[in-house]
Amino acid sequence: MHKLQRPIEPTSLTKANKAYDRATSQAKAWDEFDKDEVREELKVAQDGLCAYCEISLTDNTRIDHFEPKKRDRELTFDWENLLLSCDGKDSCDIKKNNNFEDYWVNPYEEDPAGIFTFRSNGKIKGVTEDAKKIIKDFGLDSHRLTVQRRSILAFLTKELLSDSDTIEYYKNMDYPMFPTAYTQIINNLSGE
Ligand SMILES: [Zn+2]
Repeated sequence: MHKLQRPIEPTSLTKANKAYDRATSQAKAWDEFDKDEVREELKVAQDGLCAYCEISLTDNTRIDHFEPKKRDRELTFDWENLLLSCDGKDSCDIKKNNNFEDYWVNPYEEDPAGIFTFRSNGKIKGVTEDAKKIIKDFGLDSHRLTVQRRSILAFLTKELLSDSDTIEYYKNMDYPMFPTAYTQIINNLSGE
């Protein structure tokens, strides 16, 4: 997870929020809302990655309400409350479900730098007690993520250890996935 910069609110969302009245069912209003613009804005802001686990997003993304909309109607079209998550079995959005905890970190609001550490075997550890709980709540230590991180990070570590000159090359790369883990491994190996 890394700090994200929220773009300007899409007009489609502002309009939907204005049109949303007390009489309309929340689920229906959200279902019928054309989410394309919101999804596109968030996808660009997140470099095509899940806001939580940083896996590459396919066409099956989920717009996640950071604080579940069931808790308050006002959260339905609240731009500050929306993030793009991965979708599918074990996805971050599914793991979060309709829960909400005060210690959760919304990467658009807070900078999560340094609260997680990554190993080249793909494992993630929480530095703080809250971070440890977030890992469980969002499923950041799930098998699917550990395996994918391992394949990238183990390769990277091997490359860097074999030739220290390659560190500069990898530092300047655009990371296709897991940029937080990637940067951490590179910095550790280059002694930063
Ligand atoms: Zn995710």
